[in-house]
Amino acid sequence: MPEPVQVVCPHCDTINRVPANRLTDVPRCGECRGPLFEGRPVPLSEARFRRHLSHSGIPLLVDFWASWCGPCRTMAPEFEAAARALEPRMRLAKLSTEEAPGLAAELRISGIPMLSLFAGGQEVARRAGAMPARQIVEWASRASAGA
Ligand SMILES: [Zn+2]
Repeated sequence: MPEPVQVVCPHCDTINRVPANRLTDVPRCGECRGPLFEGRPVPLSEARFRRHLSHSGIPLLVDFWASWCGPCRTMAPEFEAAARALEPRMRLAKLSTEEAPGLAAELRISGIPMLSLFAGGQEVARRAGAMPARQIVEWASRASAGA
């Protein structure tokens, strides 16, 4: 039996255990029946981020952004495209620094857009500035391989 991987539901935040070899089989949440991966970033509040951070068995790639930030808006469709390429190897999420200023300060998010990669509950890499989808995928894949 392959080791199950913990996947936090992007809809109801229930912790699911999915066999590693079934991650690509469009797994559904045992609680709400929603798909665990939809090929798009999940907008998270601070509380939801903390839950996903502490329970996610796959790396969490977070786009820290704000509505007033032009480069953030430019990168949004690129990050969406990266989600289609990186799921289900990792979970992509978006966090508004306007809605979670305390968390942004705690994590020392100084410039945005900022991409942060978390694995095993810890930040393992970060990179500031807008990037095209291909570069996001390459950077995140490399960073998570070394995590
Ligand atoms: Zn669910």
